[in-house]
Amino acid sequence: GIRISGVSKVFPGLSRPAVDDVSLDVAPGEFMTFLGPSGSGKTTTLSMIAGFTPLSAGSIRVDGEDISGLKPHKRDLGVVFQQYALFPHLTVAANVAFPLQQRKVSKADTAARVREALDLVGLADFADRLPRQLSGGQQQRVALARAVVYQPRALLMDEPLGALDKKLRDQLRREIARMHRELGMTFLFVTHDQEEALTLSDRIAVFNHGRVEQVGTPSELYERPSTLFVARFLGESN
Ligand code: ATP
Repeated sequence: GIRISGVSKVFPGLSRPAVDDVSLDVAPGEFMTFLGPSGSGKTTTLSMIAGFTPLSAGSIRVDGEDISGLKPHKRDLGVVFQQYALFPHLTVAANVAFPLQQRKVSKADTAARVREALDLVGLADFADRLPRQLSGGQQQRVALARAVVYQPRALLMDEPLGALDKKLRDQLRREIARMHRELGMTFLFVTHDQEEALTLSDRIAVFNHGRVEQVGTPSELYERPSTLFVARFLGESN
């Protein structure tokens, strides 16, 4: 699991911290979503967990190990952003193989694991294509396959459905739910979309002004919101 303890982020020039003393526990295998309006600190928190943004205060532990000082690639976490960030000149299979090559996995092992990962996201027949020959939703599925191919300790996703149209978004949302069931991996998901959060998550952390207002299951938040902000934000539809 992931343990976030008293984590803050101060950016110079801002009148208040972007992330303000956030503490959260994500259980092993849990699907946890950071939900909140634009600017509430979700992305900054995820980025501190991933290792792209240094902490101003606090600590982050994964399976008991303090990772606060580790470089991103040493944290053993899969990451997917809104923009797919695939290598445009590499085939789908080569994109997915990349993290394994970095970790010096053998060729035979790599081939088998790439096949398995592409199977998982339903793209087994697309191994030899280039990213530009795929739809946005397919490219995002390649990014998901690449993020889980080395069996990281958790998968972190920042608005992975954000760039897609409604139909593809619904489809990929179901894919992500299925991946979570099949992999049993800890998933951390960032969104400003209430419906996405309510349908996907085991638990949701509601962010507002850099703080976590409430953490709970979708039904707890819906039935017993602890603040007016949570009640209003969950009640809204985009
Ligand atoms: P969004 O959904 O729009 O990405 P968010 O909830 O993820 O919003 P963050 O991106 O974490 O929010 O931003 C939190 C606050 O920190 C905002 O006020 C933002 O402007 C500020 N911020 C984020 N990154 C930086 C940076 N590199 N330098 C200065 N301020 C930043």
